[in-house]
Amino acid sequence: MAAQPEQASILSFEEARALVEDHASRLRAKGRELLGVLDTQGRVLAEPIHADRDFPPFPRSTRDGYAIRAADLDKLPADLQIIGEIKAGGVLSTLLVESGQAAAIMTGAPVPNGADAVVMIEHTSRAGDRVHVARRVAASENIVAAGAEAKRGDKLLAPGVRIGYPEIAVAASVGRSRLLVHAKPRVAVLSTGDEVVDIDVPPGPNQIRNSNSFSLAAQIQAAGGEAVVLPIAPDEHGRLRELLIEGLESDLLLITGGVSMGKYDLVEQALAELKAEFFFTGAQIQPGKPVVFGRVDHEYFFGLPGNPISTMVTFELFAKPVLEALAGISSRSLVFTHAKLKSEIRTKTGLKRFLPAMLSGEFEHAEVELVRWQGSGDIASVARANCYAVIPPDRERIAAGEWVPVLLR
Ligand code: AMP
Ligand code: MG
Repeated sequence: MAAQPEQASILSFEEARALVEDHASRLRAKGRELLGVLDTQGRVLAEPIHADRDFPPFPRSTRDGYAIRAADLDKLPADLQIIGEIKAGGVLSTLLVESGQAAAIMTGAPVPNGADAVVMIEHTSRAGDRVHVARRVAASENIVAAGAEAKRGDKLLAPGVRIGYPEIAVAASVGRSRLLVHAKPRVAVLSTGDEVVDIDVPPGPNQIRNSNSFSLAAQIQAAGGEAVVLPIAPDEHGRLRELLIEGLESDLLLITGGVSMGKYDLVEQALAELKAEFFFTGAQIQPGKPVVFGRVDHEYFFGLPGNPISTMVTFELFAKPVLEALAGISSRSLVFTHAKLKSEIRTKTGLKRFLPAMLSGEFEHAEVELVRWQGSGDIASVARANCYAVIPPDRERIAAGEWVPVLLR
């Protein structure tokens, strides 16, 4: 399976992605920590969460109205005797609703014994201790049976989920104020290139500020990792090798730049000298074709092309699933949404394209349009966009009004 960089193996997008997912599926998170439940937002759950009681713990009325016996409403209008009132949070009622009787009940209150349905207050009128019911209800209507949502001991959350507000609500509902989460993986970022300089020094006329280390660090954080930004590596063998070795000490190493075919693109050679295994050295995509995926011993690395948009896109497409696996997230596949193309697209065939685009429209009318860009170095174009339109490799022209896949960001 391993290829030497000189025998470049360039895969289709789908093959490359499948290969990455396959490796990712065998990775595990390294540590765990206990956090206060509100500090777990965005983290990955490292323990199962079980129901500590039945949900709901009692048959729950979902309406304000009257708890009755459905069979009493066979003949309408029905006239029933009100024998009491049950509110949410009141003492558990010992009322027994018999035929011809009704108990006034509030949303969230336990349905009393004997009753098998709740009729909404809107369909009744009350006169003293009598209630007239004008509409039939089926047995069990407007009641959630005890344990219908979950039985005590059921697993409500599995380890490996990314925690958001619904998971925090589940934890709160079972009384968990602290949760065990996975440690964040440490992801090293190594920008390479003689022209690349730190952002706090004024660049010379032939120099470029290092934006890739920043976009990558932000993407790493958003994906649940901790970025370890290394010094910029020059296009010089010795120092590059030193920094690669340092980067390989993290859980994952992301290198940007130096993976194309240029004379000073030294990254693959330096990695090969460190006995790297290469799984692919290119993918049929634009931007990002020269993307490299491999491993030195057990440490995975990606060589991401240095053009800023290539770096961003290849992170999203390939590095993210590995990072997520190291963060403990259960693997999931990449899904594109679809939107209607606003204006015609013409491209060359042969590569699957991920082009900066603007998703707009309203409600169920999603529209997408490419933003103006000067190619994969045009950082501001991505900032003007909010997604990538995905153009299949076999399409030269896509007409306005066609549905196209969209990669959200
Ligand atoms: P490379 O992949 O090394 O051939 O670089 C491709 C392009 O990306 C060149 O125009 C580089 O100047 C630019 N580039 C490389 N690294 C960075 C970086 N860290 N930040 C911004 N631009 C970069
Ligand atoms: Mg370079």
